[in-house]
Amino acid sequence: MDQLCRGMLELGGADLQLNGGCLVRHLERSAAGGWDLLDHQQQRLGVADWLVLNGTLLAHPRCQALLGWSEPPLQPLVRQLGDGLLEQAAAAIASIECSPRCALMLLIQPPLAEAWRRLPFRLLSFDTAAQARWGLSRLSIQPLEDGRCVVVAHSTAEVATLHADVIGSRSSVARLPGVTPSLQREQELIEALSAALLAVLKPWITSPALEGAEPQLMRWGAAFPEGPGLPSRLTLCPQSRIGFCGDFISGPGFGRIEGALRSGEGLAPRLLAAMGAAPG
Ligand SMILES: Cc1cc2nc3c(=O)[nH]c(=O)nc-3n(C[C@H](O)[C@H](O)[C@H](O)COP(=O)(O)OP(=O)(O)OC[C@H]3O[C@@H](n4cnc5c(N)ncnc54)[C@H](O)[C@@H]3O)c2cc1C
Repeated sequence: MDQLCRGMLELGGADLQLNGGCLVRHLERSAAGGWDLLDHQQQRLGVADWLVLNGTLLAHPRCQALLGWSEPPLQPLVRQLGDGLLEQAAAAIASIECSPRCALMLLIQPPLAEAWRRLPFRLLSFDTAAQARWGLSRLSIQPLEDGRCVVVAHSTAEVATLHADVIGSRSSVARLPGVTPSLQREQELIEALSAALLAVLKPWITSPALEGAEPQLMRWGAAFPEGPGLPSRLTLCPQSRIGFCGDFISGPGFGRIEGALRSGEGLAPRLLAAMGAAPG
């Protein structure tokens, strides 16, 4: 799906400058009434007249447990700016519950991939009883053109909660300062999810079909937001020059890509109008 974002950014033309690959750790008010974005060493990453946050990390208390931050980075600004709309938005975001997931990812090489490619389905959604039995919620099989096959097995929220302290060593969060993944716990969880997968797929798939599959574990502490989410009337705070979009905005497609896209579409014209009306 990231191809979709890349394509849309390309439509922005040559004037659009893209900066990425770095976590914004601190937010400050700029001298011009906009925003300064800083990394964890307080180095300035960028300056913005208006800020749009498309994730909740900088405004949600989960950053405290996840990354050991003392409070959400937006919170001191909320206290300082005296913007009632921003106060309501920050409170609504802070109250959003998030459901976690772990995912086991396998890359099966030929000729073992054949057994996976022959499976009579590409996507398996587990009902409540099946989730309770196997601890899995979804299985996706994606054949690649070169004969290999990608297999992704998602845990249930319960399994992910039980293993909340296990971080995939290749997850982006594992690269953050202060985060030390436990390789042994990760391996144990990989083995538990692999065993559940084999139990589900017996007799189509047997354990040799996992050989050389380079299993990886991904963990999303906030994989899916739970409703109702941030009301759209709170997604733009002109006084503070900040807007919000993403799958946590209430409306059709909430918690999915559709909701994220719609929220951006909904915010854009209001943001442009507010930017046009703002002094300076
Ligand atoms: C396991 C799993 C399976 C899913 N399956 C489906 C599916 O089948 N169909 C579907 O429609 N949806 C699915 N979803 C949901 C879908 O991925 C999300 O709804 C969608 O990605 C939300 O888009 P977004 O732009 O709101 O947020 P994101 O995709 O999370 O994008 C936010 C971006 O902001 C960046 N970011 C956040 N904070 C900071 C910061 N402080 N500094 C720098 N960068 C930052 C993040 O790195 C990220 O790139 C799935 C999600 C998960 C976890």
